[in-house]
Amino acid sequence: NTPTRYHLTDSTIIKTIYRPRTPFANKGTYGHALLIAGSYGKIGAAVLSAKSCLRSGVGLLSCYVPQCGYDIMQISEPCAMCIVDENTHYNTHFHQGMESARYKAIGIGPGLDTQTATAKSLERLLAVWKSPMVIDADALNLLSIYPSLLQEVPKNSILTPHPKEFERLFGSSQNDIDRLELLSREAVSRHLYILLKGRYTAMACPDGSIYFNPTGNPGMATGGSGDVLTGILTGLLAQGYSSKEALLFGVWIHGYAGDLAAAEHSQEAMTAADIINGLGKAFQ
Ligand code: AMP
Ligand code: MG
Repeated sequence: NTPTRYHLTDSTIIKTIYRPRTPFANKGTYGHALLIAGSYGKIGAAVLSAKSCLRSGVGLLSCYVPQCGYDIMQISEPCAMCIVDENTHYNTHFHQGMESARYKAIGIGPGLDTQTATAKSLERLLAVWKSPMVIDADALNLLSIYPSLLQEVPKNSILTPHPKEFERLFGSSQNDIDRLELLSREAVSRHLYILLKGRYTAMACPDGSIYFNPTGNPGMATGGSGDVLTGILTGLLAQGYSSKEALLFGVWIHGYAGDLAAAEHSQEAMTAADIINGLGKAFQ
């Protein structure tokens, strides 16, 4: 029995992870990310993820959206490219062509909905896509509805449940300590990075270590905050940061951008969009 090792991510750790851009870089240097997100009524989640992914340094971003999301995405975020599903309201065919796709990272889940056709497409994606992904929101809910899919998630992927999503996936716990043990056990046995969102977000690694993140504030308890995190993590992964680096750095800078947003707007008035706007100063 190896003892669980607990760490606090501080700015010293973050500075060792951060890699400044090289002078001769081109957009190919920083990877092409794919975000699979959005459904009718929840295209905003896809837009927030796309914007934060682009504000995290990704080289190129493609967003896979249902038809109802096409105009909204193109107008809201001209820096992102769009791939449009054949379905009007939901993403149902994002597995197509993925055997030979050259994305550096995939993020899936914000605003996705949990339609059966979406689950089928996720199953077929997981059959061919073997590099680490960022899995959030309704993609996590699909894994809890269809537990066999959870076995197929690529090793070293990052799962980003909030407490309710965590409970749906892995069951409930008597207390916080038991829940941390469960979090760590699942990360080790499945070889995944799993975070548990909240104040001091806990991040469990496949080697049994758990990191706690000190940045962030209750102003981030607002719709869209998590979608912003998914975009950041996907963008960092696409740039070549390892899953662990992307996780520690992404969660830290998401919280720090949230703290800058709260300082400017107040915890009450800030929105998830203000977290994205805080990313510039946070990276500086
Ligand atoms: P979600 O529930 O998916 O929208 O994610 C919410 C995000 O905001 C997570 O990254 C949380 O860690 C963060 N967040 C929410 N409430 C707080 C809080 N009270 N303190 C720090 N971060 C928070
Ligand atoms: Mg969420």
